[in-house]
Amino acid sequence: EEKTTMGMVAMLPSPGMGHLIPMIEFAKRLVLNHNLAVTFIIPTDGPPSKAQKTVLQSLPPAISHTFLPPVNLSDVPKNAMIETIISLTVLRSLPSIRDLFRSLAASALVVDLFGTDAFDVAKEFNVSPYIFFPSTAMVLSFFLHLPHLDQEVHSEYRELAEPVKIPGCVPVHGKDLLAPVQDRKNDAYKWVLHHTKRYREAEGIIENSFLELEPGPIKELLKEHSVKPPVYPVGPLVNVETGRAGNRSECLKWLDEQPHGSVLFVSFGSGGTLSSAQINELALGLEASEQRFLWVVRSPNDKVANASFFSADSHADPFDFLPKGFVERTKQRGLVVSSWAPQPQVLAHGSTGGFLTHCGWNSILESVVNGVPLIAWPLYAEQKMNAVMLTQDTKVALRAKDGDGGLVEREEIASVVKCLMEGEEGKKVRYRMKDLKEAAAKTLGENGASRNHISNLAQKWKNKATVTN
Ligand code: UDP
Repeated sequence: EEKTTMGMVAMLPSPGMGHLIPMIEFAKRLVLNHNLAVTFIIPTDGPPSKAQKTVLQSLPPAISHTFLPPVNLSDVPKNAMIETIISLTVLRSLPSIRDLFRSLAASALVVDLFGTDAFDVAKEFNVSPYIFFPSTAMVLSFFLHLPHLDQEVHSEYRELAEPVKIPGCVPVHGKDLLAPVQDRKNDAYKWVLHHTKRYREAEGIIENSFLELEPGPIKELLKEHSVKPPVYPVGPLVNVETGRAGNRSECLKWLDEQPHGSVLFVSFGSGGTLSSAQINELALGLEASEQRFLWVVRSPNDKVANASFFSADSHADPFDFLPKGFVERTKQRGLVVSSWAPQPQVLAHGSTGGFLTHCGWNSILESVVNGVPLIAWPLYAEQKMNAVMLTQDTKVALRAKDGDGGLVEREEIASVVKCLMEGEEGKKVRYRMKDLKEAAAKTLGENGASRNHISNLAQKWKNKATVTN
C-alpha cells in the first residue's frame, strides 16, 4: 500500500519585503500545484511590520509562518549597511531556527541571498539546503564569480579601468556593481563575500528570472559545472497583491479616468528615498514633461537612498516637500499619493503606459508581466547593475542620467519622460516589453520552462519526504 507523503519545505526569507514577496509566490505554486506544505521562518529584530503580517495572514492554509524572537542588534553601528544588518539578523537567529527544526520534518530549507548561515542548521537535521535568489541572473552570476574576482583584483572594483566581465553578461563598470562591494573594507563586503563562498554548498539555486529576459547569463548558469550547484530559473514570479492596500481606490479610480497607456507611474520601491533637492527637481521635471503621472512620494532623506527599507512609512508629511503650488498646477494631469500605492494593480491597469522605477527586481518583473516599458533610476543595493542590464542588454528601459553632484536635473527628467511616452526610442522599448510579456506568460504556462523547473524541484522534495518518513 502506497503512503502519500506531502512533504514540507521550510523557507527563510531575510528581512525586507522585496525578499519575502517573491518567495511567497514560489511557495504558493508549490502548495497549489504540487501539494507540498510550506512554512515560513522569519527572522526579526523587532515587532513584525504590518505589511509582513498582512501578506502572511492572507495565504492558503498549507502555508504557515513563524516569526522568530527578535535578535538584539544594539551593538551594530548606526551606519551599518543593510546587507550587514540582514546577515547579522539571520546569524543571531540560528539558535531559534535550531529549536524550531527539532519539531519540523522539512525536506528542504530555502534561504534567500543573504541567509546561507542557516545551512549549518539544515545540515544538522539532514535537510537539503537551497537558495532562492530574488534578483537578476546577472547578479547571481556575479555572486558566483565574486570569490574568484576577490582573489584576482587587489584595488577597489570601482577603480578598475576596464569593465568587469561576468560570464554571459554585458560588461559592467566597477562603479555600477552592487552597493555592498563598493568599499571592500566595509563589513557589508565581507558579508557578501562570505555568503557567495557558501553558495556552492546549496543543492540548487532557484533564480527568479527567465531565459528570454536574460538569455546571456541564464545560458551560462544552466551549463553543468563541478563547483556550481544546479540553477533553476523559475521566474517571473510576481505578486498580484502586496500586503497593504495603501491608497488603492484613489489610485485605481483616478487611472480609470485617464486615456489608455497615457500615465507614467513613478515609484522607488518599498525602501527608496530621494533627497529634498531631488524631489524638487523630479516634481518640476514631471511638470515640464506635460505627461500624465502617478507619483508615490515619500519624505526625503538627504543622507541615504534606502531610508525606508525596513518600514515604508513616511514620518513627516511628504507633501510638505513638494515645490510650492505643484499639486495644484498639475492636478489635471497628475496624481501624487503618499508612501505606498497598489503597485501590481497600477502596472496592470490599461491607463499605465510607463514606469519610472528604482530598478528593484520585483518592480521590474511586475512591469515585464504587464508589458510596461521603463525609465531606470537606480538608487541602492544592486539597482545600478539592474539598470545596466535593462538599458544595454535587454533594452527595455531608457536611463535618466544624473548631472553634477549626482542630481538628475529637471530638463533631463522632462526629456526622458517625453521620450518614453511619445518618442521613437520609447516605441522601441515598448515593443521589446510586449515581446517579453508574451514570453513571460509562456514560460509559466503549460509546459513552459519556468513551470517545469518548479515541478522538478517539487518532485525532488516530495521524493526526499518519502524516503525520510
Ligand atoms: N510596492 C508596492 N507599492 C509601493 C511600493 C512598492 O506595492 O508603493 C511593492 C512592489 O509592487 C514590489 C515591492 O513592493 O512588489 C518592491 O520590491 P522591489 O524588489 O521592486 O524593491 P525593494 O523595495 O525591494 O527595493
